[in-house]
Amino acid sequence: MSSGRPEILFPLFAALDGLHGVGPKTALTLNHMAIEAPRDLLYTLPQSVIDRRPRDSVQGADLPATLTVEVEIGQHRPARSKTGAYRVTVEDAKTAFQIVFFHARGDYVARLLPFGSRRVVSGRVEFFDGMAQMVHPDHVLLPEDADTLPAFEPVYPLTAGLTQKAITKAVQDALSRAPELAEWADPALVTRENWPTWHDAMMHAHAPKGTGEMSLDSPARRRLAYDELFAHQLTLAMARTKKRAKRGFATSGDGRLRRKVLAALPYKPTNAQMRTIDEITDDLAAPLRMNRLLQGDVGSGKTLVAFMALLCVVEAGGQGVMMAPTEILARQHLEGLQPLAEDAGVVLELLTGRDKGSERRAKLDALARGDIHILVGTHAVFQKDVAFHDLRLAIIDEQHRFGVRQRLELGRKGQAVDVLVMTATPIPRSLALAQYGDMDVSVLDEKPPGRTPVKTALLSNEQMDSVIDRLRQAVAEGRQAYWVCPLVEESEVLDLTAAEDRFKRLRAALGEGVVGLVHGQMPHAEKDAAMARFVAGDTGVLVATTVIEVGVNVPNASIMVIERAETFGLAQLHQLRGRVGRGSEASTCLLLYQPPLNESGLKRLTTLRETDDGFRISEVDLEMRGAGDVLGTAQSGLPRFRIADLERQAGLMQIAQDDARKLLNDDPTLKSARGDAARVLLYLMRQEQAIQLISVG
Ligand code: ADP
Ligand code: MG
Repeated sequence: MSSGRPEILFPLFAALDGLHGVGPKTALTLNHMAIEAPRDLLYTLPQSVIDRRPRDSVQGADLPATLTVEVEIGQHRPARSKTGAYRVTVEDAKTAFQIVFFHARGDYVARLLPFGSRRVVSGRVEFFDGMAQMVHPDHVLLPEDADTLPAFEPVYPLTAGLTQKAITKAVQDALSRAPELAEWADPALVTRENWPTWHDAMMHAHAPKGTGEMSLDSPARRRLAYDELFAHQLTLAMARTKKRAKRGFATSGDGRLRRKVLAALPYKPTNAQMRTIDEITDDLAAPLRMNRLLQGDVGSGKTLVAFMALLCVVEAGGQGVMMAPTEILARQHLEGLQPLAEDAGVVLELLTGRDKGSERRAKLDALARGDIHILVGTHAVFQKDVAFHDLRLAIIDEQHRFGVRQRLELGRKGQAVDVLVMTATPIPRSLALAQYGDMDVSVLDEKPPGRTPVKTALLSNEQMDSVIDRLRQAVAEGRQAYWVCPLVEESEVLDLTAAEDRFKRLRAALGEGVVGLVHGQMPHAEKDAAMARFVAGDTGVLVATTVIEVGVNVPNASIMVIERAETFGLAQLHQLRGRVGRGSEASTCLLLYQPPLNESGLKRLTTLRETDDGFRISEVDLEMRGAGDVLGTAQSGLPRFRIADLERQAGLMQIAQDDARKLLNDDPTLKSARGDAARVLLYLMRQEQAIQLISVG
């Protein structure tokens, strides 16, 4: 088993300047387009195609258009001034038209289009002054050479310093070096989809016969897209297999703590909660290491699911840890879970960056002795000196910005710790597959009953006074409201000013003690105190920067005002709105915007007004922004697909995942003939680091 690149791929990874017409300078230019080897040229497909099929006349064509006709050359009218046009009258089978040159040397045109001879010309024809004309033809050929012109000419993306001719030539040479490769795709799939081989797919994709063959659904393009997705899913599947193959704890509790807590709950878990709890406890009971994602919209009740999983571990004599992204959220988890834990005799403790000195020491000692059963905290829980007695389960809450790489790092912390990642940012299925293909996914697709949907309205900020009047009335009725201040890009200082200004104005309008303020730069103690006053209902209105975005739960808060809502992203607005509508009372979300709204702002705000389905919202978001932006490609560890389109090929991604998992299941070390072909694919896709996952064992 060789560890290096297979020889058959050598020509595709050779130096670029070995290709026809590519010198060091062109090679450098291609590098700017992320083209570093002939392989990358193959994966740079034409973006359009020009129809060069000959016709007998320009007459009857829908102008302007690129046309190819045979003509007889007539009179030359050289330019009368330096900037004037050099015109040549020509005649095709039906009509006369002009071929026009600017800044052309007369002898050049005379040689190119000799009077009285016949030529095939191809170029863009348009009407000018009532006359059809072709300015600077792309091609001029002798009639007997006409068949050297391809019927359809591919058009490649360019960058400064690169001509269509140069890149076409380089691609053609790269194609001539493309080997026939053994089939890595499932044979049944290839038959069903009627796919060409990889080699033929490449040839076809670079020689599209008309725009129909440029479509994502053309067999050649679809096959090539599949290859990209399959290689990616194979990598994820290998990471998954490797993690699962690691011996994990087989943790099965006897259910005694869970029963107690469920009996004490003031509500019944939803079916979705019961189902996902089962999925997780099944994983815990298996001797494999769990690596699971729990996706659930805001308010779907992820905390209870997490707590049940933690209790299961405690029943079995182990410990669990739950990490939240912010201090406020960690504290809230502790406060929400503490009473339930006490009932069941479970010891819960909080650890954040704020724990210092002897108190921190004492907590760490208790943790190491096993006296603390469940630790809740911020990323401080993963500091080097935090040692557990018997850690079995790590839960990471609200980590929608947690990439593949970070997840791998986390896995390294505990030797066999089961991992559950929770996210409230629903992402479309295709992206979930692309980003979390190495994990198993549970979905909380049902919200607890009895919630009234949040009424959402758009208001211009000129109506701010009336909004404040409504707030005054609501507060008088004992309701509570959040007021989220605009996000000022790149500047926390400006965020702060905006929040403080709004705080002063609201305090002046509503009264001293009624309004609270939290923002990111506040000293911790002040932030906590302000939060606590709001949770206790002492303050009616909480002015905040987006620090409240993630997970905060105040059931009595039923109004959410978001200022300059148009500056926020869809997912973020959805998260913010999710802070209200958590009690039984009817809730309102007021989106204040600064007119005039641009198209994207309007689309975001109206989408939000029309639906509160997180998955639907995530799909619109994806449509509007593209996959890279939604996930943040750099941090998600998602490769840049050159051909596959995540937005429109979700189905293909699912097929790729199933196929990849199945292949690895049947042939875990990729030893079979198909496994061998799949290895070649991984090298072809520059995913060879994945091969280490199976070869290092
Ligand atoms: P999220 O999924 O956003 O983290 P939480 O776990 O914070 O949601 O739950 C939101 C609110 O719903 C909490 O107040 C919680 O107590 C409540 N809740 C959770 N599950 C149920 C249920 N099955 N029935 C009623 N209320 C529930
Ligand atoms: Mg939560």
